[in-house]
Amino acid sequence: MKSWTDLETIQPVAVKMLMNSLVKNRLAHAYLFHGPRGTGKKDAAKLLAKSFFCLNRNGAEPCHKCRECSRIHSGNHPDVHWIEPDGQSIKKDQILHLQKEFTYTGLESNKKVYVIHEADTMTVNASNRLLKFLEEPGKQTVAILLTENSQSILNTIRSRCQIIAFQSLSARERQKQLMEKGIPESTARICSTLTSSVDEAISLSEDDWFAKARKLVIKLIEVLHEQQNEAYLFIHKQWLGHFKNRDQLSLGLDLLLIWYKDFIQYQIGREQAIVYDHENVRFEKYAFHISMQKATESLTNILDAKRRLMANVHSTLVMEQLVLQLQR
Ligand SMILES: [Zn+2]
Repeated sequence: MKSWTDLETIQPVAVKMLMNSLVKNRLAHAYLFHGPRGTGKKDAAKLLAKSFFCLNRNGAEPCHKCRECSRIHSGNHPDVHWIEPDGQSIKKDQILHLQKEFTYTGLESNKKVYVIHEADTMTVNASNRLLKFLEEPGKQTVAILLTENSQSILNTIRSRCQIIAFQSLSARERQKQLMEKGIPESTARICSTLTSSVDEAISLSEDDWFAKARKLVIKLIEVLHEQQNEAYLFIHKQWLGHFKNRDQLSLGLDLLLIWYKDFIQYQIGREQAIVYDHENVRFEKYAFHISMQKATESLTNILDAKRRLMANVHSTLVMEQLVLQLQR
């Protein structure tokens, strides 16, 4: 169970603001939490609800044990409402229903919290309905809107909320979260380097296609530096069959880029920054035929290949040219 102190390690600014308001008993009527996926917005909403209702709160921290805390934790608190998109969007009826619930006084107190997930998916009608609702706040009501895309929220709604920004996590923080979910360290490290979203990193780590992609990248490195005559054949026979579309190929190039960066980190003795596991023997071996200058040029070549790919150059052309440059 996360505490404010836990969350503070990844979101110091947002958490400090919220804790401050709690300690001073000066919560806003409405909050807008915005930031990328997996940055703790949902955890913060749950904690805020707990702190608001907890019977034994200590400073800002809820006890996590009392009746109120446990009911919020299991999602069964009668005065805490969670609204999620119904299909693609949050509809007017959902907001009307919420409003109706709120016309009754709280079952056990006058306090109420509602949390709207993916608030940017509210239809215009739903947004207008919510706006009316925000304009006449009950005395002890806290609204929490969560979004990855705050620009899609009506200005009139935004201006009535206290806006709290949740920052992207560092790769190291993402890696930690992945490892807490039981993902092996080497996989966690590489997945959290490739994407800034924890959810995306998790789905990568579970993806068989991605596991094979990692192997093919190492194979390409081997072919490039040990069986140069085979490189074209390898690209046509194995590589292009696996990296079929632009997104997949772009990910493949990112993996290749990480390998060359690692190679450089190894040569300058920054082994703690290396992402690939079990590659040190190869880094050592290739140090004889890949100069530092060549490695740096290779990084530029790979970045250029990515740019050409994004400019819609055909993937076969992109890879053929890249292989030629990397071998040179
Ligand atoms: Zn409690």
